[in-house]
Amino acid sequence: MTTPLLTVMAQAPAPYRVDEHRRSSSSCRSRTLGALAVLAGLVTLLLPLPAFSQIKAPAPHSGASPATSADQAMVRSTEARTQAFLEDLRSLVAIDSGSGQQDGLDRVATLLANRLRRLGAEVERLPAKPSVGDIVVGRIRGTGSRRILLMVHYDTVFPEGEASRRPFRLEGNRAYGPGVVDAKGGAVIILQALELAAERNVRDFATITVLFNPDEEIGSRGSADLIARLARQQDVVLSFEPSPMDAVIEATKGIAYLTLAVQGRAAHAGAAPESGRNAAVELAHQILALQTLGDSAKGTTVHWTRIRAGERPNVIPDQASATADLRFSDPAEPARVQAEINRIIQTPLVPDTTATLAVQLQRPPFPRNPATEQLVRQAQTIAGELDRPLEAVAMGFGTDAGHAFQPGNPRPAVLEGLGVIGGGLHSPKEWADLESLPARLYLVVRLLETLP
Ligand SMILES: [Zn+2]
Repeated sequence: MTTPLLTVMAQAPAPYRVDEHRRSSSSCRSRTLGALAVLAGLVTLLLPLPAFSQIKAPAPHSGASPATSADQAMVRSTEARTQAFLEDLRSLVAIDSGSGQQDGLDRVATLLANRLRRLGAEVERLPAKPSVGDIVVGRIRGTGSRRILLMVHYDTVFPEGEASRRPFRLEGNRAYGPGVVDAKGGAVIILQALELAAERNVRDFATITVLFNPDEEIGSRGSADLIARLARQQDVVLSFEPSPMDAVIEATKGIAYLTLAVQGRAAHAGAAPESGRNAAVELAHQILALQTLGDSAKGTTVHWTRIRAGERPNVIPDQASATADLRFSDPAEPARVQAEINRIIQTPLVPDTTATLAVQLQRPPFPRNPATEQLVRQAQTIAGELDRPLEAVAMGFGTDAGHAFQPGNPRPAVLEGLGVIGGGLHSPKEWADLESLPARLYLVVRLLETLP
């Protein structure tokens, strides 16, 4: 997720605070399960992984009919995968793959591509130009008609060397390390869920397409088009950014940056100030006039976040600029805000100055919509099988779900936030919640089994 997520996640309640009773009962259970999971993990390492094409035996799952109680065989399978899950996570976190780091991104892409091939997928690697690194796309063919896209990014915000400075570690019920939850944990959920689905002989889909991109943290400039193009071919898109609690994300904001530049005239601040035209003063005037651009009913916010003016203390500045962060849910809002600003800046305070506005669209919104609401209800039914709560939350940040969502079309239905539960994103405190891993896997595999 891109930077603003940090704030949102930091404010979100800790998952355990929601239900203290569940915490105490599940933490003693998880010690026993932990020991079992280690054994199961060893067995998993020794056995070849199942591929979708290799598995023929009928599975004991309940298929498309919504169950009201948990599928116990699947509960056991998800719990038994904890150790394998952690080993996958450890291997991914051990490789630095900050946006722009060619070597690390290549190594992670190779690892992900190999895993997809072992699942029986046809795999392509496409350069994410102008970003560094490849987009890994895998396709698994089934026998049904639904087309499903599972996607998440594998770049992180961390510098080279971070993985050895701050290696993957487990402490209590948490895993730590660079990218552990944003979003390498999401990549592992995809891989583990597909392995489990293969074990269970889930075949009722035309294609499951998996997309791992290397540039989400810098705006997905090299992968946005492919995400949008692939998404248009799907019935359902599931995105695996992290979730701050037992939740899925039903909406994210669109983001645009507005840059207001003022041109004035430079002059000596002591000798001839009257011949100058102070761009900083004009900018300050305009920013005060531009305080009413938001629209809370539409979920639009505009905040002036960066101001620059002047080089020297004794010179009347001839240039000044300010940048605002615009968040929106309605795709028409950037045009409205732009028109409003262009109207307001026609009234200057400092004569002979000119103000101009530039708008850079960063990400389209993923707004609340009926197709997503239906997926949310389905996810909540599945969480109910495990007696767990599942919130549907709208977030103020932007993700690649915005590129997948197709305004005005009921397809694909998009759901975000299916990755690992955790917090501290983009910080050294980043953590993934281990207790919730089996439930997340259960949710994703059951979604794959029951998608309409
Ligand atoms: Zn992020």
